[in-house]
Amino acid sequence: MTLTVRAPAKINLHLGVGAPREDGFHPLATVYQAVGLYDDLTVVDADGWSVDVAVSDWMDRGQVPLGGDNIVDRAAALLAAHHGLEVRGTAHVDKSIPVAGGMAGGSADAAAALVALDRLWDAGTTDDDLLELAARLGSDVPFALIGGSALGTGRGELVERVADHGSWWWVLVPSPTGLSTPEVYRHFDRLRPDAPAVPPVPEALLDALDAGVPHALAATLHNDLQEAALDLRPDLGRLIEAGESEGALRGMVSGSGPTCVFLCEDPDAARAVAGGLQEQYDVVLVAGGAVAGAHTVTYG
Ligand code: ATP
Repeated sequence: MTLTVRAPAKINLHLGVGAPREDGFHPLATVYQAVGLYDDLTVVDADGWSVDVAVSDWMDRGQVPLGGDNIVDRAAALLAAHHGLEVRGTAHVDKSIPVAGGMAGGSADAAAALVALDRLWDAGTTDDDLLELAARLGSDVPFALIGGSALGTGRGELVERVADHGSWWWVLVPSPTGLSTPEVYRHFDRLRPDAPAVPPVPEALLDALDAGVPHALAATLHNDLQEAALDLRPDLGRLIEAGESEGALRGMVSGSGPTCVFLCEDPDAARAVAGGLQEQYDVVLVAGGAVAGAHTVTYG
């Protein structure tokens, strides 16, 4: 049997970060949106277990760990242990989501692996168990399973769908060099010693999402990690200014960066902003949201 599962990149429309908890994780109040940029994971029945990865031509394959250290290996081991099964099959990942880009590409692969291997092994994992295994793999993995637009609390792993009546258009500008998520959080801790124990839920942004009005959403986008990311990477500030002067409603750092995302009025505006930015930046992508979470695209 061969099957391919596709999982989306995420944008944090709002990323509210609190002071680190005793377990070292930061409490979050975040609003995720899944956007139309995907990693595809194909699994095939086989004796033994292996993972290999191919990346889009603008990405550096060397940044993705292999030899047992990929998050797909961890997802396979966790699912197999949950059911008392042997880890078997070959997994091939086609990556289009930037690596270490703040768009949760590794989390997308982990979610895709859970869905694909559950089917390949005919394991019949319940939705609740899949979400629980996903949370153990990483804070963003449960969201990659459910997709759409969702509120994330806890350390981001407690997800609930939110009302979204918009059709949102984004320009995405990945960076040739990644930014380490832990490093950005460490810098945030230095900059914001007064961060709250529990960050507040962004009600105005949830209203804008529900109303489906791009200008209203643009006015409420917020990322608590942006200041830290811009401090570490001042070039991103110039990129955000460039996108906004090309006509984006609003530009921001995606998650912990360095990918920057630009909300645009409609698809034509997104293409115009992308065209302008392409004169200065090598890789400029256009994606719509919100899209589905990890789902099977071919099966046979
Ligand atoms: P997040 O926004 O969730 O912090 P990110 O999008 O910034 O994540 P990822 O692409 O998920 O970053 O990768 C983070 C690190 O995870 C990489 O630097 C890499 O070493 C490791 N990794 C393990 N498996 C994968 C995978 N399948 N794809 C990408 N990175 C992986």
